[in-house]
Amino acid sequence: MTITRFAPAPTGRLHVGNIRTALHNWMLARKAGGKFLLRIDDTDAARSKEEYVDAIHEDLAWLGMQPDMVERQSLRLERYDAAFDVLKAAGRIYPAYETSQELELKRKVLLGRGLPPIYDRGALKLTDEERAAKEADGIQPHWRFKLDHDEPIVWEDGVRGTAKFDPAQLSDPVIRRADGSWLYMLPSTVDDVEMGVTQVLRGEDHVSNTAVQIQMFTALYAAQFSAASGAPNELPEFAHEALLVGREGKLSKRLGSLGCDAFRERGIEPEALIALLARLGTSLSVEPIANMKDLLETFDLSTFGRAPAKFDDADLERVNTAIVHQMEFAEVKDRLPEGMGEDAWHAVRPNLETVGGAHDYWRIVTGPVDLPEFSDEDRAYLADAASTLQWGDDPWAALTSALKEKTGRKGKALFLPLRQALTGMNHGPDMGELLPVLGEEVARRRLERASN
Ligand code: GLU
Repeated sequence: MTITRFAPAPTGRLHVGNIRTALHNWMLARKAGGKFLLRIDDTDAARSKEEYVDAIHEDLAWLGMQPDMVERQSLRLERYDAAFDVLKAAGRIYPAYETSQELELKRKVLLGRGLPPIYDRGALKLTDEERAAKEADGIQPHWRFKLDHDEPIVWEDGVRGTAKFDPAQLSDPVIRRADGSWLYMLPSTVDDVEMGVTQVLRGEDHVSNTAVQIQMFTALYAAQFSAASGAPNELPEFAHEALLVGREGKLSKRLGSLGCDAFRERGIEPEALIALLARLGTSLSVEPIANMKDLLETFDLSTFGRAPAKFDDADLERVNTAIVHQMEFAEVKDRLPEGMGEDAWHAVRPNLETVGGAHDYWRIVTGPVDLPEFSDEDRAYLADAASTLQWGDDPWAALTSALKEKTGRKGKALFLPLRQALTGMNHGPDMGELLPVLGEEVARRRLERASN
């Protein structure tokens, strides 16, 4: 059974980058008939907020990407303690006593010599007496995971192909602070093990974390840590997608603040965001596909490129407009103005950029409409139109062909005064569709009023 997960920290609203990662994980699970797990990474008690947890749920619901399971790291602290004990007993976790200033100095020295700032494992070189002396001085250690330097870390990345790291080129990661609180690395691995996650798909900023975490997985399996949970002792598949960047090609601040609420306010449909994000950065073309089944059919990690995916608002708006043009009345009726029916929706839909735009067009129907200054000639023409108007199957076609015959007008001279008199606008919805929505009485009244 495929199990994917989306693991946001509730320290802010989801932004378009997170939404994309969530979507791809959701799609991987849906396509495989598996499960999509939402894991709230809330070990950072100071920065995590309940309002953001709620917002994550709301945003996923708006996007139609409800999780099959929800977990919270703050409720699993004893599992992390258990993993800590097991790995410590196995010699894979060690205490370190450097202050952040000392660590910073070490980094600077290495960088100054043109060397990579890899932790020198100073804490491993301490004698028992030195360690005892530190503790006697009241220095509480923080804790590091000891990487095994013997073999390269290799995996087949679902997007990047073969990935290879020399563990000696990585610092032993700090996994736990002196106050006992957790950093991201180990809890995430413990969860992936115990929740039986089979595919880890995340941003490429996590590539080196994966290298480290693969050793954590292996160490936990070796210690039989997951035996009780029944999860298979098998590494998940890893895939790292290229980052999302702004149109300018940079990681922009603006992207980081673009969330579901901002999209919703602008009239962006979740289907549009999904259609765009499902294919952005892949070899497939972005199309206004509103049907998830169709998107799922072509969804495949092998189409993902390694170049940054460019997010452009203009693309989103284009896809959104095309999606709005496909939306059925039943899908939108709760968001339409009071009284606006299916015929009216069909009449105005091709002119809309957003569903909300229907309100502006509905004003054409409810009136009053602002009339331009008509020439005497046009007024006479409109008077003619008012008396010619006959209600039937297609009153617009009947009216315009009768007027054409009668007056010899054609093109703009034939149509524009009618449109202006009936709608107060120079452009707008197809009159053949709109006229029946206005109804005979309103149409006649407007033509008469304009002819006076
Ligand atoms: N909370 C982590 C993040 O948002 C999760 C990363 C992961 O997918 O493992 O970056």
